[in-house]
Amino acid sequence: MKLCRVRRGGAEAYAVVEGDRVELLSGEPFGEIVRTGESWPLSEVELLSPAAPSKVVCVGKNYLDHAKEFNSELPAEPLIFLKPSTAVIGPEGTVEYPSFGTRVDFEGELGLVIGKKCKGVRAEDWRSVVLGFTCVNDVTERDIQFKDGQWTRGKGFDTFCPIGPWIETELDPSDLRIQTRLNGEVKQDSRTSKLIFSLGRIVEHITAFTTLLPGDVIATGTPEGVGPMKRGDTVEVEIEGIGVLRSHVK
Ligand code: MG
Repeated sequence: MKLCRVRRGGAEAYAVVEGDRVELLSGEPFGEIVRTGESWPLSEVELLSPAAPSKVVCVGKNYLDHAKEFNSELPAEPLIFLKPSTAVIGPEGTVEYPSFGTRVDFEGELGLVIGKKCKGVRAEDWRSVVLGFTCVNDVTERDIQFKDGQWTRGKGFDTFCPIGPWIETELDPSDLRIQTRLNGEVKQDSRTSKLIFSLGRIVEHITAFTTLLPGDVIATGTPEGVGPMKRGDTVEVEIEGIGVLRSHVK
């Protein structure tokens, strides 16, 4: 099932994508999913970020080849940072290039959307707390990230977290192709089977220190090939079995 969040004429709702229409849900898709029977044409709605997270929890350096491209040492355990909820934008959204920005990079990543409040989840139980899977672009002001030493500012600008286009709830995420294209040119092309830390290990590590809430998103790290964007660019993150998340840089 593909779960989305839509806006039309000022009304917002969660919905299920059914071909070229979206069927509206009653309330949120956490717990029981209740369809209303009302549907709108997909072409007439604005797709919003499919999740409205209280926080986006990200994993750094989780693909060997990406760690190598920055000559980084591999972490002994997952390296975690947060992006604020105000960084989140939806499909076809605009990444605003900071006025004092000098190098703004794309980072295509597999996102996990949390389906229920959880803490202390064991690695083998990770799937029970995950509603489904989506695409994330962990947009990064690289020069500020390295200058600051810690990553809050470089990763946390408003609009620096495109999410979407929807949440795929039925998918085996263990070996999916993940690709990022800049103005149509392939820049990142890898597979989720190359993750250093497994999804279970990541969920266990994160929920050992913080409570995850329904709608929270985990960005699981980016493969090699990250690079800069400039104003006017279009960037697409595509994950096999999920879809394409497209953003525009302004
Ligand atoms: Mg990243």
